[in-house]
Amino acid sequence: MSSNPEGFRVAVPVPLRQALDYLAPTGNNPVLLQAGMRVRVPVGRRHLVGVVMARGLSGEVSGHRLRRIEAILDAAPLLDEVTLDLIRFTASYYHHPLGEVVATALPKLLRAGGPARLSIMEHWRIRSDISLDDAVLARAPRQRALLDFMRSLETGGQPVSSETLAGFGPSWRTLAHALAARGWIERIEKSPCTLASGGESPPPLNSEQLAAVGGIWPASTCSGFGVHLLDGVTGSGKTEVYMGLIAKALEDGRQVLVLVPEIGLTPQLLKRFQRRFSVPIASLHSGLSETARRDAWLASQSGEAAILIGTRSAVFTPMPRLGLIVVDEEHDASFKQQDGLRYHARDLAVWRARRQQVPIVLGSATPSLETLRHALEGHYRHHRLTRRAGNARPPRLRVLDIRHNRLEAGLSAQLMSAVRERVEQGEQVLLFLNRRGYAPVLICHECGWTASCPRCDAHLTWHAASYRLRCHHCGHETTVPASCPECGAEKPRPLGEGTERVEQQLSTAFPGEGILRIDRDTTRWRGALDASLEAAHGKSFPILLGTQMLTKGHHFPRVTLVGVLDADQGLYNVDYRAHEQLAQLLVQVAGRAGRAERPGEVIIQTHQPEHPLLQTLLRGGYEAAAVMLLEERRISGMPPYANLALVRAEAVRPEAAMRFLEAAREVFSAEQREGADVLGPVPAPMERRAGRYRFQLLLRATERAILHRWLARALPVLDALPESRRTRWSLDVDPIDLY
Ligand code: ADP
Ligand code: ZN
Ligand code: ZN
Repeated sequence: MSSNPEGFRVAVPVPLRQALDYLAPTGNNPVLLQAGMRVRVPVGRRHLVGVVMARGLSGEVSGHRLRRIEAILDAAPLLDEVTLDLIRFTASYYHHPLGEVVATALPKLLRAGGPARLSIMEHWRIRSDISLDDAVLARAPRQRALLDFMRSLETGGQPVSSETLAGFGPSWRTLAHALAARGWIERIEKSPCTLASGGESPPPLNSEQLAAVGGIWPASTCSGFGVHLLDGVTGSGKTEVYMGLIAKALEDGRQVLVLVPEIGLTPQLLKRFQRRFSVPIASLHSGLSETARRDAWLASQSGEAAILIGTRSAVFTPMPRLGLIVVDEEHDASFKQQDGLRYHARDLAVWRARRQQVPIVLGSATPSLETLRHALEGHYRHHRLTRRAGNARPPRLRVLDIRHNRLEAGLSAQLMSAVRERVEQGEQVLLFLNRRGYAPVLICHECGWTASCPRCDAHLTWHAASYRLRCHHCGHETTVPASCPECGAEKPRPLGEGTERVEQQLSTAFPGEGILRIDRDTTRWRGALDASLEAAHGKSFPILLGTQMLTKGHHFPRVTLVGVLDADQGLYNVDYRAHEQLAQLLVQVAGRAGRAERPGEVIIQTHQPEHPLLQTLLRGGYEAAAVMLLEERRISGMPPYANLALVRAEAVRPEAAMRFLEAAREVFSAEQREGADVLGPVPAPMERRAGRYRFQLLLRATERAILHRWLARALPVLDALPESRRTRWSLDVDPIDLY
């Protein structure tokens, strides 16, 4: 062996913090092997797909123990330098194993070592211009069955992919070819990108919109890095600003990455972009098949897709000509992954924009406190859209004191009469309650017994439609007891209300009126949410009732009254972000009302009408409330004025989790420096969940760098503790809730 062997650092999907050293494969010219290519390497007795991070060896493994790369899987780097840097940054910032970050960045099929080639996206369509010959079909029952299968898929006339047709059974292809030979169906190849027709001309932008577009993209070419908060009330035309910027980026020959919080918002945005731009647009989210995800990823990586719309993990997609990043609804919690690699896609997007020297737009009607603080302190440019586009007037907010009021299924008499008035005038009403099911508690009126989950510290929710009790935390389900298991009294009663119960009350009060309930229970099956939203826009449902689902980006122009049934849930919540989230929620729900010419009204039912948060929100709007909350955070030393990391541990026996965290506390205390403190360990707010006991240790530092140096010193020590292998634990950097 030569004294200076050619080697490579390879990230493999194992829980190790570092890349591993390997020797160049035999028989290949090592010069060909570059960073960003996938390779197959031996790890223990397994053979894994890894990504070459860099040329050279760490020197930590002595030469004779080094193993060889077995195979090179790519002819050219799959990941470019930007993406490799983003992966390295993510691994170090979240103190997460490098190989697992790589795994998050790659679509599953590529992670598994599959070829980096687009599949021919084969589709089949029933030809509408040909009439079928029933006599022939009667003699070919299998072909008829395949036709029936295609018809049953309800694709709205869109072609059906071969992947989907394979669901018919192994003979589908033979049958499809037979049908095609008769000219009844046809085979088509589709690009992974939607080829948009475009051509719709934009409305003339108002002065605020023009100022935003001009401020973010002032010249004809990309102006370089800058973070821009686009702070605009709902309906103020933020999406028009995005499109104005996208048009400029496309003219400059650039690609655009648009991150959205929910899969549900992708089709909506995709449609708007398609009407406007005639460029290939790819989308990337969890609702797609693995093949479609791989293809959309490759189309972006190769530069074919001009626009990529995606959820969280799309932030890792290589885009060689990237010129602009948009993060829509930047305050939304779903940008933060809540398990495994707990990254925040918005924060990584900002890092990426700096690395790739492009502008990034963070859009929201209710910016997160982190973002708002940066804007107020001048680190981010702050662009405000204060007017609603068109003639729409902002809704009027009103707090309704429900103390001493008799509520019927959570509805006060005043709210009911306001609803009645609107319904009689042929207008639409939206009622919001963030609790699904019939009632959150089932209680025995005789002895006080309540139905609780055997595996969690939580009550079981009564679902009337299915007549079941369900735990919303672990999924445990059971029947509704006919009598109290404790004292035998008959018929335990529902206490409190969820959307099901409100719906029942409304249908009694408004017989014959269409009431549409939209929550996780009514939208469980595929396509149900879209169908419901479609129906909500029609005239058949004067009353809409729903949970948080309804507050996210959906526009209901006919809604003139929004009722918030229970604002107290959020006011009483102890989590440090609860008030921020409540303010965002109230403003977002309010934003659904009065978008067209009719002014909207928002009624918030509460037992605490004088609560400073509600009062500030009413008098000064979201920004005033946010400034007040920022001040509270500063005084209490919480983010964004402090930097947090949360160590969570869980175990079947509480002592095991607690023992680990006590050991962890010792380690962190020993490595602690000025500007840092440890809080806990304490039980999680819901101590027992799905049969496991959960505890946590909070690490806090005044400066981000202090926190990261502290973690870097302590984690290797922690990893080496015997307790750390006996307990399930995780680290969450910048946790967004302390649960
Ligand atoms: P946001 O994203 O802030 O909720 P949108 O961009 O969706 O707002 O705009 C809300 C509505 O107003 C849309 O129907 C949009 O087409 C329209 N709109 C936006 N800007 C203008 C404008 N400058 N002139 C006319 N209509 C506009
Ligand atoms: Zn009882
Ligand atoms: Zn449970």
